[in-house]
Amino acid sequence: MVVPFSGGCACGAIRYQCSADPVFSWNCHCRDCQRASGSAFCPVLYVAKATLTLTGKSRYYDVKAESGNQVSRGFCPECGSPVFIQAELVPDLQGLWAASLDDPSQFQPLVQVWTGSAQPWDCMTPTLQKVEKAPTAAQMQKLLTPRG
Ligand SMILES: [Zn+2]
Ligand SMILES: [Zn+2]
Repeated sequence: MVVPFSGGCACGAIRYQCSADPVFSWNCHCRDCQRASGSAFCPVLYVAKATLTLTGKSRYYDVKAESGNQVSRGFCPECGSPVFIQAELVPDLQGLWAASLDDPSQFQPLVQVWTGSAQPWDCMTPTLQKVEKAPTAAQMQKLLTPRG
């Protein structure tokens, strides 16, 4: 991605800027992401919290994800756009919904997870590896290894 990059919610009340490349990015097809998005999956990039600058106030909704892990979903109280995800699994990272980016074409998912929960009308990227449920510790380690 071109850094720094920026984004925000639909009404502009929430804005963020990030000064470093995402740590990892994926499309999650779990039921919880389906409900939170109203759609087939959640395209999300995770960045180090230390590299993120925020303006505006978001509200958080805590949910036990399909994995059993606690996930906090941040959205704009004005326009309702989903913008942030905080996952217990990766406490130092902040998830950003891909479509909240000012330039969403920059999003590069590395893997598709929870494909076992995907709907028959879901469209997946054929070139991306599918993980049926949550990634294993080994798969997670591989995703977290810095690239390039
Ligand atoms: Zn908003
Ligand atoms: Zn999910």
